[in-house]
Amino acid sequence: MTQTRYTASGRSPRLFLDQDLSGSKTTALAPEHAHYVRNVLRMKPGDGVLVFNGRDGEWHAEITELTRKGVTLYVSELSRPQTPAGDLHYLFAPLKHARLDYMVQKATEMGASKLQPVLTQHAQVKRINVDRMRANAVEAAEQCGLLTVPEIGDVIGLQALIADWSEERTLVFADEAASVEPAAERLLALRGRPIAVLVGPEGGFSHEERDLLRGLPYVVPVSLGPRVLRADTAAVAALTLVQAVAGDWT
Ligand code: SAH
Repeated sequence: MTQTRYTASGRSPRLFLDQDLSGSKTTALAPEHAHYVRNVLRMKPGDGVLVFNGRDGEWHAEITELTRKGVTLYVSELSRPQTPAGDLHYLFAPLKHARLDYMVQKATEMGASKLQPVLTQHAQVKRINVDRMRANAVEAAEQCGLLTVPEIGDVIGLQALIADWSEERTLVFADEAASVEPAAERLLALRGRPIAVLVGPEGGFSHEERDLLRGLPYVVPVSLGPRVLRADTAAVAALTLVQAVAGDWT
């Protein structure tokens, strides 16, 4: 399978490296990145890549050595300085494999700064593979030009989440039972403030959960229109709505 990952400008592939980065340094790639560069991208010595680690900005690098044993890069100069990550938490009931992979990738592309799995009464999946979530988030960050990879929270129950909530963060709750009213006006007031978006499981929220959420002062229930969306679609729709009205599209 050939698969290429480029920056939005179509230049060099980007790699997230879990190590400190600075200029004029040579570094060896971890085995999975070496495999990717050699066998998937089929790169050659002299080819350029961009590297980032979520802390030190994005750097130009060049492949200097490429053998069966490994791949070495020369990191030359800064291409983009580190900028602060956005502040948009995405809270979701865990989904099954392929849909979870998709949702993690899309939420990352949409600019979620934290991905937080939340157990609800109708959740079909109780456990989650955090490493797999992180790998999907890294891949999406590499692909879409992000300088940081979202933080990934451990699974938490809805009650515990609420017990620990810091009230200055508004919880935008995608409520499939909300009457369809344009959400944009209410969201406009949240511009520049910390926001979390919550989407339920395929089975939806229970009545008790909905009543609980609707009774909280920091919760804003929103409708995503007259159709019932699948949870992975609702993720993209809700994050689009929030980013466009109150987030980093404004
Ligand atoms: N089984 C449920 C639907 C769940 S859809 C039912 O039939 O009612 C999964 C999640 O996506 C929901 O919990 C909600 O958070 C979100 N969602 C889907 N469609 C929505 C809509 N039209 N408005 C708001 N949220 C929606």
